[in-house]
Amino acid sequence: MQFVQTRGNDKNRPEAVSFSSALLNPNASFGGLYVPETLPDMGIVFLSEYLNSDYKHLAFDLLQKFEIDIDDDLLWEALDRYDHFDNSNNPVPVVKIEEDVWVSELYHGPTRAFKDMALQPFGVILSALARQHNEEYLIMAATSGDTGPATLETFKNKPNVQVACLYPDGGTSDVQRLQMVTEEADNLKVIGIHGNFDDAQQALKSLLGSEIFREELAGKGIRLSAANSVNFGRIIFQIIYHVHSYLELVRTGEIGLGDEVYLVVPSGNFGNALGAYYAKKAGLPIRKILIASNVNNILTDLIRTGVYDIRDRRLILTESPAMDILKSSNVERVLFDKFGSERTRELMETLNETGVYRLSAEETRVLQEDFAASYCTDAEGEAFIAEYIEKGYLMDPHTATCIKAYRTLREEPIPAILYSTAEWTKFSTTVAKAMGLDVHGDKEALNAISAHLNVPVPGQIHALFDKRIVHSTVVEKTHIKEEMLTFL
Ligand SMILES: *Cc1c(COP(=O)(O)O)cnc(C)c1O
Repeated sequence: MQFVQTRGNDKNRPEAVSFSSALLNPNASFGGLYVPETLPDMGIVFLSEYLNSDYKHLAFDLLQKFEIDIDDDLLWEALDRYDHFDNSNNPVPVVKIEEDVWVSELYHGPTRAFKDMALQPFGVILSALARQHNEEYLIMAATSGDTGPATLETFKNKPNVQVACLYPDGGTSDVQRLQMVTEEADNLKVIGIHGNFDDAQQALKSLLGSEIFREELAGKGIRLSAANSVNFGRIIFQIIYHVHSYLELVRTGEIGLGDEVYLVVPSGNFGNALGAYYAKKAGLPIRKILIASNVNNILTDLIRTGVYDIRDRRLILTESPAMDILKSSNVERVLFDKFGSERTRELMETLNETGVYRLSAEETRVLQEDFAASYCTDAEGEAFIAEYIEKGYLMDPHTATCIKAYRTLREEPIPAILYSTAEWTKFSTTVAKAMGLDVHGDKEALNAISAHLNVPVPGQIHALFDKRIVHSTVVEKTHIKEEMLTFL
């Protein structure tokens, strides 16, 4: 299958490219993104064949249906990364928390957040492709806390790839910072920035946009790629778990094959929700995708009103930091799918120039056929965390935003699958606060929650506090380039 561009073609590139090409060079014409030309059929016939399949076989066959130009051996090697999740037979457990409500837990990988679902196999493929092409790649990431650890973890010691990760010093949880600064491998560089996540992201953007920097890299024979969800190589792995979660409900007899469900997705850059959208379009019986946000509720506004307006908005720091975002990149792929490349380019250019775009009433209605949206404040989220602890289920603050969306947006009494995108251990101070515990820092919070609720802290998290710090660089954002060039 070929991949086409959301904003049309500038004639400097091919009209359509292969999967591997879109993965290595994710930037498309006019600042657009790559998307699959068509979607395979994942309707009832397909689903019925996979009722007894394990995660990896479902994944393999589903990826095959996209006709991607990746050898079978390499694809299996990539999928074998799921063997390192908590339960190698089922990397994504789906847990019933009350009548009609299930939580699909996407955080059972090495860094305890859902980024592992895609980045673990993605890292294997990118590195192997780079080696096959005899090319050297640099992946740069700015992180608010989850992308960084997952990117470092997947690429550590992998040939032909180097990773530089920028994080806001003081802007992540202790666990997230330790996951990065204790990651030891020659091909990894972690740099703290004096400033917030926006500063880190701006610094990265200006570096990536700098001709001089690119030339300096080219001089060293290094190419740039990206491992964030603008890369379709990540999105493709985020379609699978939606299909798997649905099948789990059928398998356990909770629903019949073909019954419709709601999917409730805590959203930031909209990669997870986009995977759900593609699954729905391909035939998975989904009534609607309910988008959960925090008070950075740009997606709620868009889906309710058709207006995407960032003119008077400032980023608000919340207790669900992985969803603190104003420009949500993957919405563009939905716009393309619904309204075509010409309209998408027009909308995205208007957003860049004026800070706002407006869908027509008809376009908004079309968007609302698949999506509804709601947002959750920190106080509401804490209350949900406390409420469900009472009911026997422990969730992190991102997952808690799903409860609000479920309660406000569910129109019909059909089952819902909520996605849990992080383990409570990554955001333990917020969970402790919700429980009314008086603690300082992650270590105290982890121990207090573990003792109170009699839940274990997983080994990967526990071990972090005794590991050696290998990356201690914290710099002004003006010094990032120097640091980078020294590293390379
Ligand atoms: C990345 C992340 C999200 C947001 O996912 P998107 O695909 O960017 O919408 C939500 N929760 C957690 C914990 C995350 O790490």
